[in-house]
Amino acid sequence: MGAPGDVKAPTDWDSLTFSFTETDRMYVANGTLEDGWSEGIMIDFQPLSLSPAACVLNYGQGLFEGMKARKTPDDRITLFRPELNARRAADGAKRLVMPEIPESMFIDAVRQVTHENRRWVPPHGKGELYIRPILFGSSARLGVSPAEEYMFVVFAVPVGPYFKGGMSPISLRVSQTHHRAAPGGSGGVKAIGNYAPGMMPSRKAKSEGYSEIIYLDAVEHRFVEEVGAANFFCVKDGVVYTPELTGTILPGITRLSIIELAKSMGITVREQKVDINFALDCDEAFCAGTAAVISPIGSIQHGDLEVDYGGVGSITLALFERLTGIMGGSLEDTKGWTHEV
Ligand SMILES: *Cc1c(COP(=O)(O)O)cnc(C)c1O
Repeated sequence: MGAPGDVKAPTDWDSLTFSFTETDRMYVANGTLEDGWSEGIMIDFQPLSLSPAACVLNYGQGLFEGMKARKTPDDRITLFRPELNARRAADGAKRLVMPEIPESMFIDAVRQVTHENRRWVPPHGKGELYIRPILFGSSARLGVSPAEEYMFVVFAVPVGPYFKGGMSPISLRVSQTHHRAAPGGSGGVKAIGNYAPGMMPSRKAKSEGYSEIIYLDAVEHRFVEEVGAANFFCVKDGVVYTPELTGTILPGITRLSIIELAKSMGITVREQKVDINFALDCDEAFCAGTAAVISPIGSIQHGDLEVDYGGVGSITLALFERLTGIMGGSLEDTKGWTHEV
């Protein structure tokens, strides 16, 4: 293990993909529901020790966050709107009866992990350092009730750009049999338990040549909710539409940033229920999240229908260029979204 800050590149930056690589250092803090958090520490990357009866292992009491640190063209390292990840994690902690992490502690942990793994931040344009904060009930619990003790851990992994050679539109399929979240449930939280149930339908769609599935709402099976673990957008007659946040949809930070950016570019944005038949009739469609940023949708299969959007739409492309320009530091950040580490 090299010392943090080594000049030598720790990996081949050109072969990065979105996959796990062990890095140098991680952050760990311990807390309780009663007394909150003790001060976190930075340690070498290592396995955690947990009781087999840990609440998180048996009852899924846990959540995660996902964010990226990037190199600017002049070699500074920046984070994108980390305070929004901190707030979302705090909201999720409330929903899952876990001690909330104060915003300053969350951001401090993310900054330390970025700094101490800075040799793993890919050069500008080659990828990003993906930062993964996790919060979970760590102490033993036999009955279904909240743990007494909690851990907040932050680690980081270098990942490649989602688009090597430009934006390639993906093909999606609407799931006719599965739903991601129901009203009153935990769909609006990055709760760990929300993700394993999507693996089977997603895997099946991938084995049949699709990139991901589109989930419709669980009540009427009519309105678009999400694309796997990314938010959905479509464009018709120059107006951008995205499903409104009703509690079953994850409030994405990329989603919010696209809405704000589009409005400031003079584009009308409507957050409302998006009927799948309306979406299929749109001019452009794309999905958005930290991992993929903006991913154009080339086609959607829904029952007997197969709709082709034909190439990357002009509004999709304009939003992609503006957003990635701000994120990567090649366009001026007039909104104060990026924070130097
Ligand atoms: C994380 C996530 C998103 C995207 O959120 P970002 O903050 O933009 O990364 C969308 N949907 C689901 C289900 C997610 O877990």
